[in-house]
Amino acid sequence: MTPLPSGSGAPRRQLPEVAAADLEVVRAVLPLRRPFVTAHGVERERHVVLVRATADDGSVGWGECPALAAPTYTGEWADGAEAVLRRFLLPAARAGRPHGLVGHPMAAGAVEVALLQLRLAAAGEPLAEWLGAVRERVPCGVVVGMGETVDEVLAEVEGHVAAGYRRVKLKVRPGRDVEPVRAVRAAWPDLALGVDANGSYGIADLDGSLRALDELGLVELEQPLPATDLLGSAAVRDALATPVCLDESITCVDDLAVAIALGACDHVNLKPARVGGVAAALAVHDLALARGVPLWVGGMLETGVGKAVALAFAALPGATLPGDLPSSSRWFETDLTEPFEVAPDGTMRVREAGPVRLP
Ligand SMILES: [Mg+2]
Repeated sequence: MTPLPSGSGAPRRQLPEVAAADLEVVRAVLPLRRPFVTAHGVERERHVVLVRATADDGSVGWGECPALAAPTYTGEWADGAEAVLRRFLLPAARAGRPHGLVGHPMAAGAVEVALLQLRLAAAGEPLAEWLGAVRERVPCGVVVGMGETVDEVLAEVEGHVAAGYRRVKLKVRPGRDVEPVRAVRAAWPDLALGVDANGSYGIADLDGSLRALDELGLVELEQPLPATDLLGSAAVRDALATPVCLDESITCVDDLAVAIALGACDHVNLKPARVGGVAAALAVHDLALARGVPLWVGGMLETGVGKAVALAFAALPGATLPGDLPSSSRWFETDLTEPFEVAPDGTMRVREAGPVRLP
């Protein structure tokens, strides 16, 4: 059986052991309501990879591996994750032995979450409660991909502001940055506005685009430099007034410890899937909380299965900033679960995913 996640904070209640009688990969393709353009590329449909664990009593636990269709965000991708799950991860989990793999955190995390959900179901305890959630509703932000035109970006932001989102994040990359961000800032002078470069700048951009962005009163500059360039990130942080947030750079708690030691980040974007599931995400959360590094929970175009996990983390004490937690309807006509929706006050209720309906 998979070891219990414990994190480095308060011990979590012991859960009953539950053997998975069946463990399988489930695939689905959901059309996105609009293409999502980032520095990494374009997503037009969501290639969903789920792990379904079924216990003898028929109870079901789901985990979502939110790898994208191509290995552009990290090295994982949907079809590769499915292969790794079928060939290595599920056989190891069925045998109750450690998988022993290097890499593939999103795939491994999906197995961990599916098995954990079985145990939580047996205990009758929601994930958020078990983790130590301190809020029932969480503030939500939203991400806006790169539009074809500035007017397109403005129109999209207008819709999100009207919907009540507490923070808007614009995807940027060299050449598609200062003009749209300046236009959004001019239209909404008081909006909590951030940008996410997905590592697309170099340190040479410091005195160009990055400096220009720094003058726009942003709440955050996310992942300005490539994931491994922590020294560069520290230099950017030194040079600019805008808080620097790390996303792709933080693959595990050790990465965060190094980033803090180097002065490479002000904020952390925690995606539980990116770091390998609940145990690994708890460790990141607990270190950020202990070191006073504000954290928020990011998204990966998840269905409701992954959204429920993200919400549980967003309800923890260290998650002090609005996360990327959009309504299901932001991306999907029909989610796989009861849709998650942002209320007019820009918050979302923390709850479980509930039954999964496959298309
Ligand atoms: Mg990001």
